[in-house]
Amino acid sequence: MRIFAALALAPTVAAASLALETPAPGVYVHYGRHDVTTIDNRGDIANLGFIVGSRCVAVIDTGGSAAVGAALRAAIRRVTDKPVCYVINTHVHPDHVFGNAAFVDDRPQFVGHARMPEALARRGPHYLNALRRDLGTAADGTELVAPTLTVVGETRLDLGDRALTLRAWPTAHTDHDLTVFDEASATLFLGDLVFEGHLPVVDGNLRGMLAAIEELKRMPARLAIPGHGRAVRWPEVMDAQQRYLQRLLIEVKQAIAAKRTLAQAVETVGGDERDRWRLFDVFHRRNVAAAYAELEWDE
Ligand SMILES: [Zn+2]
Repeated sequence: MRIFAALALAPTVAAASLALETPAPGVYVHYGRHDVTTIDNRGDIANLGFIVGSRCVAVIDTGGSAAVGAALRAAIRRVTDKPVCYVINTHVHPDHVFGNAAFVDDRPQFVGHARMPEALARRGPHYLNALRRDLGTAADGTELVAPTLTVVGETRLDLGDRALTLRAWPTAHTDHDLTVFDEASATLFLGDLVFEGHLPVVDGNLRGMLAAIEELKRMPARLAIPGHGRAVRWPEVMDAQQRYLQRLLIEVKQAIAAKRTLAQAVETVGGDERDRWRLFDVFHRRNVAAAYAELEWDE
């Protein structure tokens, strides 16, 4: 039993030393790895962040399990003793929200897009079942934590001498994407409106994602943190995603016009993008199917 206990503890110890980078003063980022959720990574596959003001801390996304959330909380405590006053979720995908449970005892405001509570109620139970199936006991402690403060349009949060602007977007990656802009450092947390390296995922609306890119380009960011991938130059980080999504739009439209079936479209659209993205085989077919469903009614 002793040996098993030691083995079981090993990933927890690894997760507890969650690596942080400080791309701007008071801005901390943990980069998740490009992967699907596994026992090994416990859902540490999305980028997480926090911003420290003079009064308190805002967390932006919490990781794919309570264990990852607890590791993030421990990492915050290594940096500051200030209370966590806001836990912001960019959207409801499990790798971004399932660490929320680790912050419940801090009694923060949990912040999300106005449509996030409905999305969490509809999808959350399925996400939780899938996590328990994939992680077993490593999912223990993970629960659904709904927003206590929701955003329509724009909302400003004050961390003490430091203001964040939260913006609720029309349907794009999902129907409830939220971005977070730190005015002091001009750092923009994009959630999954932008992917870098990891294949972009369409779970909301393809044309909405393309429209969001055009709108995002007008935001006065100096630094941008995508939901997946590295913080790189703004706005050039969006170029590769824009190219992929435009190809998806054009080629799926062509497939529909040529009366090709969904199955045929999945086989023919965008295949030569494969070598340019991580996790292409996990998400590309799903993207083609989503685009096909969206666009076939246009004809
Ligand atoms: Zn997502």
